[in-house]
Amino acid sequence: MIVAFDFDGTLADTYSCIEEAFKRTLERRCRWLPGKGLWAKLLTKIELQFERPAFGKHKKKSKPPFFLRTKFFETWFEERAKLTKPIDDSPGLLRKLKEAGHTVISFSAEDFIDGMKVKRLKEIGIYDLFDDVIVFGRELTIDEAFRLVRGKYGDEIFIWVDDKPWRFIGHGDGNTEYVWYYFPFTAKFIEKKREGLALIPHLHIIRDLWSIFDVIERVKQERSS
Ligand SMILES: [Mg+2]
Repeated sequence: MIVAFDFDGTLADTYSCIEEAFKRTLERRCRWLPGKGLWAKLLTKIELQFERPAFGKHKKKSKPPFFLRTKFFETWFEERAKLTKPIDDSPGLLRKLKEAGHTVISFSAEDFIDGMKVKRLKEIGIYDLFDDVIVFGRELTIDEAFRLVRGKYGDEIFIWVDDKPWRFIGHGDGNTEYVWYYFPFTAKFIEKKREGLALIPHLHIIRDLWSIFDVIERVKQERSS
Protein backbone atom coordinates (compact mmCIF):
# COMPACT_ATOMS: atom_id res chain seq x y z
CA MET A 1 0.00 0.00 0.00
CA ILE A 2 0.95 3.63 -0.31
CA VAL A 3 0.92 5.30 3.09
CA ALA A 4 1.03 9.09 2.95
CA PHE A 5 1.62 11.31 5.95
CA ASP A 6 1.02 14.94 6.64
CA PHE A 7 3.74 16.53 8.79
CA ASP A 8 2.57 19.23 11.25
CA GLY A 9 0.38 17.73 13.95
CA THR A 10 0.64 14.26 12.42
CA LEU A 11 4.27 13.14 12.53
CA ALA A 12 5.47 15.94 14.77
CA ASP A 13 4.08 18.22 17.42
CA THR A 14 4.85 21.56 15.86
CA TYR A 15 1.95 23.29 17.61
CA SER A 16 2.64 23.42 21.33
CA CYS A 17 5.85 25.32 20.60
CA ILE A 18 4.33 28.06 18.40
CA GLU A 19 4.23 30.73 21.09
CA GLU A 20 7.68 29.91 22.44
CA ALA A 21 9.07 30.04 18.88
CA PHE A 22 7.58 33.54 18.47
CA LYS A 23 9.17 34.62 21.77
CA ARG A 24 12.58 33.40 20.63
CA THR A 25 12.15 35.01 17.22
CA LEU A 26 11.29 38.34 18.82
CA GLU A 27 14.40 38.00 21.01
CA ARG A 28 16.53 37.40 17.95
CA ARG A 29 15.03 39.88 15.49
CA CYS A 30 13.26 42.57 17.54
CA ARG A 31 15.44 42.93 20.61
CA TRP A 32 14.29 46.57 21.04
CA LEU A 33 10.60 45.66 21.23
CA PRO A 34 8.96 45.97 24.65
CA GLY A 35 6.36 43.44 25.81
CA LYS A 36 7.64 40.50 23.76
CA GLY A 37 5.51 38.04 25.74
CA LEU A 38 2.31 39.81 24.68
CA TRP A 39 3.45 40.13 21.09
CA ALA A 40 4.20 36.40 21.03
CA LYS A 41 0.65 35.69 22.24
CA LEU A 42 -0.84 37.98 19.60
CA LEU A 43 1.24 36.47 16.79
CA THR A 44 0.24 32.98 17.95
CA LYS A 45 -3.43 33.99 17.68
CA ILE A 46 -2.87 35.30 14.16
CA GLU A 47 -0.94 32.19 13.08
CA LEU A 48 -3.68 29.91 14.38
CA GLN A 49 -6.19 31.69 12.15
CA PHE A 50 -4.36 30.07 9.25
CA GLU A 51 -4.80 26.63 10.81
CA ARG A 52 -8.58 26.73 10.93
CA PRO A 53 -10.72 24.44 8.78
CA ALA A 54 -11.72 25.46 5.30
CA PHE A 55 -14.28 22.86 4.31
CA GLY A 56 -14.36 21.92 0.67
CA LYS A 57 -11.65 24.39 -0.28
CA HIS A 58 -8.02 23.56 -1.08
CA LYS A 59 -8.80 23.58 -4.78
CA LYS A 60 -6.27 26.22 -5.54
CA LYS A 61 -2.65 27.00 -5.18
CA SER A 62 -2.18 30.00 -2.99
CA LYS A 63 0.42 32.49 -2.04
CA PRO A 64 0.41 33.58 1.59
CA PRO A 65 0.19 37.28 2.44
CA PHE A 66 3.48 39.16 2.12
CA PHE A 67 4.05 39.65 5.84
CA LEU A 68 4.25 35.88 6.31
CA ARG A 69 6.98 35.58 3.70
CA THR A 70 9.51 37.68 5.56
CA LYS A 71 12.81 37.03 7.36
CA PHE A 72 10.88 37.27 10.58
CA PHE A 73 8.80 34.21 9.72
CA GLU A 74 11.82 32.40 8.32
CA THR A 75 13.44 32.79 11.74
CA TRP A 76 10.20 31.71 13.36
CA PHE A 77 10.16 28.47 11.31
CA GLU A 78 13.77 27.85 12.34
CA GLU A 79 12.96 28.33 16.02
CA ARG A 80 9.83 26.23 15.64
CA ALA A 81 11.84 23.44 14.02
CA LYS A 82 14.30 23.44 16.93
CA LEU A 83 11.42 23.04 19.42
CA THR A 84 9.57 20.39 17.39
CA LYS A 85 9.21 16.86 18.72
CA PRO A 86 8.18 13.70 16.85
CA ILE A 87 4.81 12.23 17.84
CA ASP A 88 4.61 8.57 19.00
CA ASP A 89 8.15 7.80 17.74
CA SER A 90 7.07 8.59 14.19
CA PRO A 91 10.56 7.93 12.73
CA GLY A 92 10.35 4.37 14.10
CA LEU A 93 6.87 4.01 12.62
CA LEU A 94 8.01 5.14 9.16
CA ARG A 95 10.84 2.57 9.27
CA LYS A 96 8.46 -0.24 10.30
CA LEU A 97 6.03 0.59 7.51
CA LYS A 98 8.83 0.44 4.97
CA GLU A 99 10.07 -2.85 6.40
CA ALA A 100 6.53 -4.18 5.92
CA GLY A 101 6.85 -3.35 2.22
CA HIS A 102 4.72 -0.21 2.04
CA THR A 103 5.55 2.86 -0.01
CA VAL A 104 5.86 5.67 2.52
CA ILE A 105 5.30 9.22 1.33
CA SER A 106 5.42 12.63 2.92
CA PHE A 107 2.30 14.41 1.64
CA SER A 108 1.84 17.86 3.08
CA ALA A 109 1.21 21.50 2.34
CA GLU A 110 3.95 24.05 1.79
CA ASP A 111 4.64 26.52 4.58
CA PHE A 112 4.39 30.28 4.24
CA ILE A 113 7.91 30.28 2.81
CA ASP A 114 8.80 28.26 -0.30
CA GLY A 115 11.00 25.25 0.41
CA MET A 116 10.46 25.51 4.16
CA LYS A 117 8.57 22.22 4.51
CA VAL A 118 11.46 20.21 3.04
CA LYS A 119 13.92 22.14 5.18
CA ARG A 120 11.94 21.29 8.33
CA LEU A 121 11.61 17.60 7.39
CA LYS A 122 15.40 17.51 7.03
CA GLU A 123 15.96 19.38 10.27
CA ILE A 124 13.92 16.92 12.32
CA GLY A 125 15.75 14.03 10.59
CA ILE A 126 12.86 12.25 8.84
CA TYR A 127 13.31 13.46 5.26
CA ASP A 128 15.38 10.42 4.24
CA LEU A 129 12.90 7.97 5.77
CA PHE A 130 10.36 8.62 2.99
CA ASP A 131 10.25 6.99 -0.43
CA ASP A 132 9.04 10.31 -1.76
CA VAL A 133 8.31 13.80 -0.49
CA ILE A 134 5.43 15.65 -2.11
CA VAL A 135 4.55 19.20 -1.15
CA PHE A 136 1.35 20.79 -2.40
CA GLY A 137 -0.28 24.18 -2.06
CA ARG A 138 2.20 26.28 -4.01
CA GLU A 139 3.42 24.58 -7.21
CA LEU A 140 0.78 21.85 -7.08
CA THR A 141 -2.83 21.70 -5.94
CA ILE A 142 -3.81 18.75 -3.72
CA ASP A 143 -5.44 17.09 -6.73
CA GLU A 144 -2.35 17.54 -8.88
CA ALA A 145 -0.21 16.16 -6.06
CA PHE A 146 -2.55 13.18 -5.77
CA ARG A 147 -2.42 12.50 -9.50
CA LEU A 148 1.37 12.72 -9.35
CA VAL A 149 1.37 9.94 -6.73
CA ARG A 150 -0.98 7.82 -8.87
CA GLY A 151 1.22 8.38 -11.92
CA LYS A 152 4.38 7.33 -10.07
CA TYR A 153 3.10 4.52 -7.86
CA GLY A 154 -0.03 3.23 -9.58
CA ASP A 155 -3.53 2.54 -8.31
CA GLU A 156 -2.86 0.56 -5.17
CA ILE A 157 -4.59 1.53 -1.95
CA PHE A 158 -3.62 5.01 -0.80
CA ILE A 159 -3.76 5.43 2.97
CA TRP A 160 -3.83 9.15 3.67
CA VAL A 161 -3.00 10.21 7.23
CA ASP A 162 -3.61 13.80 8.30
CA ASP A 163 -4.56 15.66 11.48
CA LYS A 164 -6.79 17.99 9.46
CA PRO A 165 -9.58 15.78 8.08
CA TRP A 166 -11.32 18.67 6.33
CA ARG A 167 -8.44 18.52 3.86
CA PHE A 168 -9.74 15.14 2.64
CA ILE A 169 -13.09 16.44 1.39
CA GLY A 170 -13.42 16.11 -2.36
CA HIS A 171 -9.95 14.62 -2.87
CA GLY A 172 -8.59 11.14 -3.47
CA ASP A 173 -10.36 8.32 -5.30
CA GLY A 174 -12.16 5.01 -4.70
CA ASN A 175 -8.88 3.40 -3.68
CA THR A 176 -8.21 5.97 -0.99
CA GLU A 177 -8.63 5.34 2.74
CA TYR A 178 -8.70 8.45 4.89
CA VAL A 179 -7.14 8.38 8.33
CA TRP A 180 -7.71 11.25 10.71
CA TYR A 181 -4.91 11.32 13.25
CA TYR A 182 -6.68 12.96 16.17
CA PHE A 183 -4.20 15.55 17.39
CA PRO A 184 -5.92 17.43 20.22
CA PHE A 185 -4.52 20.80 19.25
CA THR A 186 -6.00 20.81 15.74
CA ALA A 187 -8.93 18.51 16.59
CA LYS A 188 -10.47 21.35 18.59
CA PHE A 189 -10.98 23.23 15.30
CA ILE A 190 -13.30 20.50 14.09
CA GLU A 191 -15.45 19.94 17.16
CA LYS A 192 -18.03 22.53 16.13
CA LYS A 193 -18.09 21.39 12.52
CA ARG A 194 -18.06 17.64 13.00
CA GLU A 195 -20.91 17.14 10.51
CA GLY A 196 -18.43 18.02 7.76
CA LEU A 197 -16.80 14.65 8.38
CA ALA A 198 -19.86 12.88 7.03
CA LEU A 199 -18.68 13.97 3.60
CA ILE A 200 -15.63 11.74 3.85
CA PRO A 201 -16.03 8.08 2.84
CA HIS A 202 -13.72 5.39 4.28
CA LEU A 203 -12.78 7.57 7.24
CA HIS A 204 -10.78 6.01 10.06
CA ILE A 205 -9.91 7.83 13.26
CA ILE A 206 -6.78 7.01 15.24
CA ARG A 207 -5.38 8.55 18.40
CA ASP A 208 -2.07 6.74 18.28
CA LEU A 209 0.00 6.70 15.11
CA TRP A 210 0.88 3.04 15.50
CA SER A 211 -2.83 2.18 15.11
CA ILE A 212 -2.16 2.70 11.43
CA PHE A 213 -1.21 -1.00 11.38
CA ASP A 214 -4.74 -1.90 12.58
CA VAL A 215 -6.21 0.31 9.86
CA ILE A 216 -4.08 -1.46 7.25
CA GLU A 217 -5.27 -4.88 8.48
CA ARG A 218 -8.91 -3.76 8.52
CA VAL A 219 -8.65 -2.34 5.02
CA LYS A 220 -7.05 -5.55 3.74
CA GLN A 221 -9.93 -7.59 5.18
CA GLU A 222 -12.69 -5.27 3.99
CA ARG A 223 -11.29 -4.98 0.50
CA SER A 224 -10.72 -8.70 0.08
CA SER A 225 -14.22 -9.76 1.17
MG1 LIG B 1 -1.20 18.88 9.81
